[in-house]
Amino acid sequence: MKFADLGLSKPLLDAIELQGYTEPSPIQAKAIPHVIAGRDVMAAAQTGTGKTAGFTLPILHRLSNTPKPSGKGNQARALVLTPTRELAAQVAASVETYGQNLKIKTAVVFGGVKINPQMQKLRGGVDVLIATPGRLLDLHNQNAIQFDQLEVLVLDEADRMLDMGFIHDIRRIIKMLPKKRQNLLFSATFSNDIRQLAKTIVHDPIEVSVSPANSTVDSVQQSLIAVEKTDKTQVLTRLIVENDWFQVLVFSRTKHGANRLVKQLVAKGVEASAIHGNKSQGARTKALAEFKAGKVRVLVATDIAARGIDIDQLPHVVNFDLPQVAEDYVHRIGRTGRAGASGEAISLVSHDEFKLLVAIERLIKKEVPRKHLDGYQPLNDLPGSKGDFRDIKPNKPKSKGGNSSGSRNQNSKSDGAGRSSKKRSSNVKKQPNQATPSRAGRNARRAKAGKKVAPERSGSNDSSARDKGSSRSYSNPNRSNNTVG
Ligand code: AMP
Repeated sequence: MKFADLGLSKPLLDAIELQGYTEPSPIQAKAIPHVIAGRDVMAAAQTGTGKTAGFTLPILHRLSNTPKPSGKGNQARALVLTPTRELAAQVAASVETYGQNLKIKTAVVFGGVKINPQMQKLRGGVDVLIATPGRLLDLHNQNAIQFDQLEVLVLDEADRMLDMGFIHDIRRIIKMLPKKRQNLLFSATFSNDIRQLAKTIVHDPIEVSVSPANSTVDSVQQSLIAVEKTDKTQVLTRLIVENDWFQVLVFSRTKHGANRLVKQLVAKGVEASAIHGNKSQGARTKALAEFKAGKVRVLVATDIAARGIDIDQLPHVVNFDLPQVAEDYVHRIGRTGRAGASGEAISLVSHDEFKLLVAIERLIKKEVPRKHLDGYQPLNDLPGSKGDFRDIKPNKPKSKGGNSSGSRNQNSKSDGAGRSSKKRSSNVKKQPNQATPSRAGRNARRAKAGKKVAPERSGSNDSSARDKGSSRSYSNPNRSNNTVG
């Protein structure tokens, strides 16, 4: 199939060609014609499937082919809600890229940065507004944006928004929108909670889905090297230098660990920078831009900060530490080998991380192939694979104290390291300004019971608290099979 077969206009086809895309990805082929036809769409698709273009292209097509409504005020014609600042920035970049041959005004707003420049950008209205929920509400409260002329609403990564406790913000936003509008809901999974939310948003939707996240795993060349914990930096440096890797995304479990690793790499002459929740938005954007431009060879990221990082054809991902939650492994390695590009993901695994490895292999239902580094042998070797690829059964929802978010419930199984999710979450250090899962969960439970909900740091005039998100929000890729379609 060709992009031209989807009914997209010439200026969009030209922009697509410039990107070098030869054919639509499955989610694009399935969703674009329905969006162009004006239907509401619920799409089950993970990041990395080309979903952003799946909604951006047809929205641009529609907006540019219908007359701009006349009227005054700071109106938006299309609104895209995303859970994180990074994703918002990336969606905005996609809108700019695909809309480069069109007269389309775009704005992106998120917390953690000054609100005034964003208010100025919204003056006179925009065609496409990409926003995180908290900052959008702040702007609306200050009359900087109106929605009387809104034509399209997109909820991107709806499951993560629920996991991050945005349900109330979303409900408040929906109430501000005109009833007659097109709705597009993108989510990795369609849990009961997402379906409940969808009922209040979409009308007679077309449901589309693409293959589950584990297919991402198949397109990535994975391996692991058994190492001594104390040798990890040395082994990583060897891999980078000996193989002449130029663009490596390295995952560290903690912010502190990320900073330390950057210092050690720089001391060994390898340009590196860190991206994590303690860095300002400016520092994060700069680090990502330098990494993308090839000025910095290694980007060390924590799971939270890496969420939504989109770098075309990222060649190498290294798990310096294995993630505490097995699902994060799939998301980490999904940063490489995207949309058909080949990629390599190597994990440096020390003896004490064996249980985490067992959980990962059980989740992805295969053994991670082991590699040997010439002349290197860890003192404590890693035990052989357990070969345990049984299905993981989700815990039964708890009657009390359980989180009401569907995908979090799906994930509330043992992490394979013998810890329950409750214990695990208490081990997760809270990021500054971060809405904790417990706060979000408590609020969600209270809301379900019809009780008053504590504001999520609404005192702050920027919404970084809500926009920074939670680290434990990933959905279980194995459950993608249970999605719509
Ligand atoms: P997304 O799932 O929207 O995060 O997109 C993942 C990556 O796929 C992005 O880097 C896009 O630039 C790229 N991409 C999107 N559509 C296509 C396509 N049809 N062919 C090749 N790459 C694509």
